[in-house]
Amino acid sequence: MSCLKTIVESKNRILITGHINPDGDAIGAGVALLLGLKKSYPDKRVEFVLQDSVPRHIKFLKGTSQIKRLENREIENYELAIFVDSANPERTGRVRDIVDECYIVNIDHHISNTLYGDLNIVKDISSTSELIYDIFENDLKINIDTDMANALYLGIINDTGNFSHSNVTARTFEIASKLLKKGVNNNYIVNNFFKNRTIEKIKLLGEVFTNMIYLREEKLIYYHLTSKKISELGITNEDTEGVVEELLSYSESEISLFMKDEKNGKIKGSLRSKNDIDVNRIASLLNGGGHKKAAGFTTELSVNQIIEKIKESI
Ligand code: 5GP
Ligand code: MN
Repeated sequence: MSCLKTIVESKNRILITGHINPDGDAIGAGVALLLGLKKSYPDKRVEFVLQDSVPRHIKFLKGTSQIKRLENREIENYELAIFVDSANPERTGRVRDIVDECYIVNIDHHISNTLYGDLNIVKDISSTSELIYDIFENDLKINIDTDMANALYLGIINDTGNFSHSNVTARTFEIASKLLKKGVNNNYIVNNFFKNRTIEKIKLLGEVFTNMIYLREEKLIYYHLTSKKISELGITNEDTEGVVEELLSYSESEISLFMKDEKNGKIKGSLRSKNDIDVNRIASLLNGGGHKKAAGFTTELSVNQIIEKIKESI
């Protein structure tokens, strides 16, 4: 298999992008690809562009300082656009508006992926970063250095919840092991990434654990973060990352839902499932998507309407 390599070699101005509110997988996969392409093809112009800024707890990762915000990009008229970790083009926000003329490569691991690329490399595995590892090894033939390895490792621990989710396979551990051999310091990455909470986030967790609601029949545990609470506690977008997983730690719960008010009046919801309930299906009913066990949506519906829809669908 040598698909992407042929395409990369025929293009000179290359854009890499990922989804809005980028997480460790979108950033890890994108940074590894940026560093890898720059090293292998020093004569090409490659940029990693995101609509949103790099979250505070990911900035420690080497290579993230090279990521450009959309308004600061330097290259015009890209010939090739590589989308990572984005189930549909709209997930990249306004970046999708600058790639109309490009050949599009779609590298992703979401089952809800709409196969929007001219080339689609989509596999239902742990993370886009795991997929990039395989692409480097089998297609691009890029030799992974320590910086690329750290980026891919971060992506994998982001999407596997530090190797705890059901998307972890023997291959995930095999790749993790190979990345460690390339120089990854597991404890350094984990401490910087997971053990790096703000005081506002810790207070938010206290609020969520105190006021969450449990619906016995549906085995659904949920919390709604209002705009009022957001300003009262001084919460940023980054502080709400991962709260939905904390809710699912309740022994009797099967699904968790974390909702928060957006500035535009809509509600952003995050869903997680512990066993067999498919939250991708539930999120799809609310115009969202994701994976079976982790999905999200943004809606104009009210909290009561959202809960009613979820109750009907279970
Ligand atoms: P999170 O709840 O952490 O924002 O997202 C969980 C999963 O669902 C991620 O894989 C994410 O890409 C996906 N997801 C979140 N929100 C949306 C959305 O509005 N639309 C789609 N298609 N996927 C989403
Ligand atoms: Mn991902």
